[in-house]
Amino acid sequence: MQTTFETDAIVIGAGPVGLFTVFQCGMVRIGCHVVDVLDEIGGQCTALYPEKPIYDVPGFPRVDAGKLIELLHEQAEPFKPVFHLGQQVVGLERLEAEGKWRATTSKGTVIDAPVVIIAAGVGAFGPNRPPMEGLEQYEGTSVFYMVGRRESFRDRHIVIAGGGDSAVDWAISLSEVAASVKVVHRRAKFRCAPDSFDKLKALDGAGEVELVTPYQLDRLEGDGTTLSAVIVRDLDGNERRLEADTLLPFFGLSTNLGPIAEWGLEMGAKNTIAIDQTTSETNQKGIFAVGDIASYPHKLKLILTGFAEAAQAAHAAFGYVHPGEALHFEHSTTTGVPAGE
Ligand code: FAD
Repeated sequence: MQTTFETDAIVIGAGPVGLFTVFQCGMVRIGCHVVDVLDEIGGQCTALYPEKPIYDVPGFPRVDAGKLIELLHEQAEPFKPVFHLGQQVVGLERLEAEGKWRATTSKGTVIDAPVVIIAAGVGAFGPNRPPMEGLEQYEGTSVFYMVGRRESFRDRHIVIAGGGDSAVDWAISLSEVAASVKVVHRRAKFRCAPDSFDKLKALDGAGEVELVTPYQLDRLEGDGTTLSAVIVRDLDGNERRLEADTLLPFFGLSTNLGPIAEWGLEMGAKNTIAIDQTTSETNQKGIFAVGDIASYPHKLKLILTGFAEAAQAAHAAFGYVHPGEALHFEHSTTTGVPAGE
């Protein structure tokens, strides 16, 4: 039986801005359900750079991206958001009679609310997969497209494929914990920052990383769950068998705005949604956009910009959730937040 959830606001995207939106909404008595296509909260911070320090979040001279997400989650928790992870919002339709919006996800979850706040960043993430037979059966056990925590790769025999910053940065970092690291790239020249390449060459010289160039991934060997080797091939057809229990292909992430572009919203440049900067509202009543996906002239794509947009959206959304009630502006020092359980 299909369950339909009723809430005040549907937040699409659990990145840093989506999480702060939950807090800002909570402060004005707007409850939220949050949907994200990824299995984990945190958006780009979790998926792309969890262990990198961020230096421009006010009040934090330096905070690792993963830690920032942990803190934003803690800040949102008193307002009891309901998360629907691992599912994409694929449909959004107007329920005219009820004055609500209905969001439907790829897993069939249905959520109705008078307000929708789109915090979808650059769109739903997906890895660019190398075309290799049987790749899917190793995903999640031996093949990974992101490194969440490098500790989970301790003592592994790793093959990294790719020639950009992610491939090189992770090869350098994982060489400190892995049993072995081999880097496969189709050219001898890498596309990473020059000083990272110098470090990689030095590790290759010291035998801590092995550069396998110019080779490309060809096929996998394993028992269907765990890899035992990655076979690579050069342009002349020469093969090498690289013993490995882990393959990390870093060929970039593709982002897909997907169905969002079909919801009748006025779009801005480069897959963004045009908003009124004073309210974060789109051209559709009750639909707001915040964070990287929201655009207006001279927009700065920074986390701190998204935080301010989230506050604007929550205040402007109040009237849809509590019609006829006036919103009296109060500081958090006056209102406090609900006590945890
Ligand atoms: P995102 O973080 O992109 O999150 C959006 C989420 O929405 C994603 O999880 C996505 O899966 C989900 N989603 C999209 N469409 C759907 C859908 N239809 N259904 C369900 N879920 C959906 N910014 C700074 O301010 N300072 C920095 O130092 C900094 N450093 C950076 C370093 C790197 C390497 C990168 C890549 C970015 C950096 N940024 C930095 C930019 C910052 O990460 C972004 O501005 C920020 O993540 C935007 O947050 P967001 O919540 O708007 O979107």
